[in-house]
Amino acid sequence: MRKPLIAANWKMNKTIGESEDFIRSFLPMVKNITDVDILIAPPFISLGAVFRLLETTDLKLASQNMFYEEKGAFTGEISAQMLLSAGCSCVILGHSERRQYFLDTDAVVNKKIKTARKNGLNVILCIGESLKEREENKTFEVLERQLAGSLKDMLLEGIDVAYEPVWAIGTGETATPEKANETHTFIREWLRKYGEGADKMRILYGGSVTPENIGLLIAKPEVGGALVGGASLKPDSFAKIVIGATKK
Ligand code: PEP
Repeated sequence: MRKPLIAANWKMNKTIGESEDFIRSFLPMVKNITDVDILIAPPFISLGAVFRLLETTDLKLASQNMFYEEKGAFTGEISAQMLLSAGCSCVILGHSERRQYFLDTDAVVNKKIKTARKNGLNVILCIGESLKEREENKTFEVLERQLAGSLKDMLLEGIDVAYEPVWAIGTGETATPEKANETHTFIREWLRKYGEGADKMRILYGGSVTPENIGLLIAKPEVGGALVGGASLKPDSFAKIVIGATKK
């Protein structure tokens, strides 16, 4: 049985002080939860401060991005070693906002995953189709292309996948639990054909997850957790999502 993972992606929200305030309020709300893995991905600038508050807990710290080069003249970028030194054990890669605004193609995501894994960082690989692609019935074709491109020449160990339909991110629209499970089943089958260890991977759902819909989503066999944006910004709503996932 895979332990569910509930991950908070704060995107470009919260100052260092606001990040600390969140963690101080949130920790007591989840202190008895042991059957769900909890991960927080604050902005880069808050990583150190959040790590100091999480250090003595089981919660994990992730960054929202990383560059594929190890070091050097890459102004504004962050390396895998820097993330490790800030306390990260994981990095989110291939988020649709990175793909849309920052030209993170599958080939770039592939390079980033390789560097992350080489340095011992776990990865949450985000994939998902746009509204147009969905309407054109291209969902599986897009997912297959993103998986093949992002995971090229990679072992699957240390990688979880987040299925995030772009039309559901920040829109209040959610894939139905049935649709999410069907898509996750397609992803699982693809991963099984691709390589060893596919059954250990968690396939998270992302896209307008809330305290109200987590219960039905997590009840589906192939929904292994959630990547949460908007509803992870308030300690009580994120805690309710974590508690909702204990029903897995
Ligand atoms: C996300 O950005 O990963 C996400 C799922 O956002 P939201 O929960 O706000 O839809």
